[in-house]
Amino acid sequence: MIDLHTHSTASDGTLAPAAVARAAKDAGLTAVALTDHDTTAGVAEAVAEGAQAGIEVVPGVEVSVEGEPGVGSFHLVGLFVDVAEPALAAALARVRDGRRDRNLRIVERLGRLGVPVSIEEVAALAGGEVVARPHFARALVRRGHVGSMKEAFDRFLARGGPAYVDRYRLSAAEAVGLLRGAGGRAVLCHPILLGLPLADLEPFVRRLADLGLDAIEVWYPDHDRAYEAALLDLARRLSLRPSGGSDFHGPGVSEVRLGRGRGSLAIPDEVLAALRPGPATSGK
Ligand code: MN
Ligand code: MN
Ligand code: MN
Repeated sequence: MIDLHTHSTASDGTLAPAAVARAAKDAGLTAVALTDHDTTAGVAEAVAEGAQAGIEVVPGVEVSVEGEPGVGSFHLVGLFVDVAEPALAAALARVRDGRRDRNLRIVERLGRLGVPVSIEEVAALAGGEVVARPHFARALVRRGHVGSMKEAFDRFLARGGPAYVDRYRLSAAEAVGLLRGAGGRAVLCHPILLGLPLADLEPFVRRLADLGLDAIEVWYPDHDRAYEAALLDLARRLSLRPSGGSDFHGPGVSEVRLGRGRGSLAIPDEVLAALRPGPATSGK
């Protein structure tokens, strides 16, 4: 079994990149992709640890993409990306700059809302180079401004909330082009979070397929069996490959476990074999 969607302390996860690789090995997986938000900074560490521990670590990244009418912003995972490829590296740096500006504005808003946190404490909680909303939520909990991460999002940080500030994102065409240009596979992850009925999901995914999308995340903790089956069917019809992952963020964040999700996730090794870029198999 494998897991092609995980986060480490390089973004908003709670385990260091090496610890994600070790934990994946301990969970009995044969491969794990590290797909931190907007950064590949953890990949080298995780790959090195994976080589030690005897588990394949797939270099990856998760990027947030500008929405289009009727569809909010959504996420793409890149798998097998060359982390040294200059265009992708530059684009991710631009996205992280946008995040830094956004984060300063969130600090301002929280102050005005009477629940102050400092950028320094939020950055310290983050540890890595990506500071994300969950880190603000943790800071709000630590300060006693809210009782839980969920309350922090519900009252302040969720999209549309009083401390929500939008940020710079890549367009879908840019993101797909950059991920593929870096030798990787572009995957539409957690399609369930788009909130689209299947009838509307299909034309949306078709447009992404026209841009060069390679795969959709069929297996995900929030997908039930019927949704998985519908996505597999959609993937087949659009000549997309299936992918799958837990979106693991570490213990203490949620009950989601590496490879198993909430208990019933099981992504077979063949899924990785079909996604692996290779000279003879790029038949899409
Ligand atoms: Mn996250
Ligand atoms: Mn995501
Ligand atoms: Mn994710």
